[in-house]
Amino acid sequence: MSLKLSQFPSIGSENSLSSHKHSLFVLTENEEENFPYAEILHTKLKRTHGELKDLYKTPLTTELPNGGIASFVALEKKLNIFQRHTLLRKALKPLLDEQPTELAIFVFGDESEREAHACAAYYVATVNAAKLPSRKKEDKFNALKSISMHGYLAEHDYSYVNARVAGNTLCRELTITPPNELNPNIYRKKIAELAKNHGWRHEEFDMPTLKKIGAGAFYAVGQGSNPQDAAIVHLTYKPKDMQKCIALVGKGICFDTGGHNLKPAKYMQGMHEDMNGSAVALGILLAASQQQLPVQIDCWLAIAQNHIGPLAYKQNDVVTALNGTTIEIVHTDAEGRMVLADTLTLASREKPDIILDFATLTGSMMTALGSRMSGVISNRPDLACRAVGAGIAAGERIVAFPYDDDYESDLDSDIADIKQCTLEGGADHIHAARFLGRFIEHDIAWIHVDLSSANNKSGLGAVNSDTNGFGVGFGLELIKNLIQAG
Ligand SMILES: [Zn+2]
Repeated sequence: MSLKLSQFPSIGSENSLSSHKHSLFVLTENEEENFPYAEILHTKLKRTHGELKDLYKTPLTTELPNGGIASFVALEKKLNIFQRHTLLRKALKPLLDEQPTELAIFVFGDESEREAHACAAYYVATVNAAKLPSRKKEDKFNALKSISMHGYLAEHDYSYVNARVAGNTLCRELTITPPNELNPNIYRKKIAELAKNHGWRHEEFDMPTLKKIGAGAFYAVGQGSNPQDAAIVHLTYKPKDMQKCIALVGKGICFDTGGHNLKPAKYMQGMHEDMNGSAVALGILLAASQQQLPVQIDCWLAIAQNHIGPLAYKQNDVVTALNGTTIEIVHTDAEGRMVLADTLTLASREKPDIILDFATLTGSMMTALGSRMSGVISNRPDLACRAVGAGIAAGERIVAFPYDDDYESDLDSDIADIKQCTLEGGADHIHAARFLGRFIEHDIAWIHVDLSSANNKSGLGAVNSDTNGFGVGFGLELIKNLIQAG
């Protein structure tokens, strides 16, 4: 999206604003009475028996005498970023629903409030103005072309916000794309094209290669597809100035039928989004390279489908993973940890400073958190805390779960080195992490993100669409945090 930005240090008078047809007013808790259209706002509040502080909880949208509309929201100092993003999203929705060409944003308060509100409003406006895939015959889309920011003159050009929006949008576009338009073959071609356009090194481990190197965990899942178009894709972004080396790993199951342990229709619905983890990793890679972050990023994408068929893996099979560990298959729907196991081994063999994996992995994480937050588990307790902090700063909420080793005894197998999962369920999100940890070599520091909030009805935080790109903002924040920590 190419967007024109004009910035004005002051708010201007009501008269000077009459050309704006879509306006957002971001007030503070100490707002003066004399802001543009204050009288109209007060009249409307009076009519509905409300008062100004109602705007702390519920934004208000009203028609203006010039034929335009304006939304008013007031952000209290005590609010966290997630709460701010949520209120701004609600305030902006009636404006963006009209698909304006131009949007005016007015920010109030002291210097630091105006700065924070300008950046947050710019992010929430642009991320929700992005065009998402639609296959409706009548699909009219009017792009937002310009934003005028009033009340704060930034020294930057919001390019870091634009990068986050680009990453989030790529993630959502890929995730929403129907599965007949994004099978592993097509997805791999798209990734190759992205790599070419953005100058990333590109390498693929296709099924014959994976068989040759002995990646039996990944292969077990990929063998059920016809054609066998699964692959592990490895992308590298390598800037000149490189302070750290980070590996991103993403689960890219383009459709998950559950395999021979077939999902019922209710749970198979939406399973084209089971590649969201890989889309989050790609979104982070795109944003980081657009921002030219001083960090090498190796992105490892486990692209496959989980199908039924004569060649598909089944319960009680025993397969040997790339690192030699034998795995007893217990449930074919636990395919995510199978494809990630070998991918994590490949990622760890390059000895990055840290591995960060993203996956829509377990139902038990959704049982624990619902779809409003995602969970992390790390083999370094301090990194789990750092991840929670990055989630708060990004407005994408993260909860840390334990990685204690006694959970692993639940995966003891009579015939193999480890069971894939249990049939009892229970703490499957922790079992999955203990399982995955077995495939990381050289004891590399690792954070596993189980994306329970990838899809939340009616949006989440900054983002309006159900599929919300959760993880891109968090991942970027965490990478910046790790760079600063040295
Ligand atoms: Zn599954």
